[in-house]
Amino acid sequence: MSLWNADEITEGAANSMSVTESSHSSADIELPFNGGCVCGEVRYECNSLPLVMVKCHCLDCQRVSGGPYAPVLSVPLSSFRVTRGEMKRFATTRISGKPNLRGFCANCGSRLTVGEDLIRNLVGIMAGSLDDPGLFKPSMDIFVRDAQRWDLMDAILPKHDQYMPRK
Ligand SMILES: [Zn+2]
Ligand SMILES: [Zn+2]
Repeated sequence: MSLWNADEITEGAANSMSVTESSHSSADIELPFNGGCVCGEVRYECNSLPLVMVKCHCLDCQRVSGGPYAPVLSVPLSSFRVTRGEMKRFATTRISGKPNLRGFCANCGSRLTVGEDLIRNLVGIMAGSLDDPGLFKPSMDIFVRDAQRWDLMDAILPKHDQYMPRK
């Protein structure tokens, strides 16, 4: 089971749409959309609408971000391109034992991506790195079992203990 399994993402997106209605649609995002790190050395662009947008509250996302959760826009890896500089990667270990590749700027340390997966053609963009972070409209919370007491969540969003469930 993995967040970045394409079937689960499609399912999860479909499920959450019925709950959150069009206010959480990604259809109003103009393509391509761009982002980068705080020092400006690394820039990226994305040519696809997000497949799903989630807040991941897992302990690794807390530790790596220094905050309560990772706000993630999942997109096809083939639609994501570093347009300036070089993105360094660090792998944490998933529950499955497989690596979770997380991209960042080696100069300033800004987090840029999570869950880069060549085989499944997926990568997660960290919403805070977007030129317009307001594009992020989460449709669910995942790994809420790891969330901190001070991590106040939107009660309206579906919550999952770990990854979004399979049917
Ligand atoms: Zn930087
Ligand atoms: Zn996480």
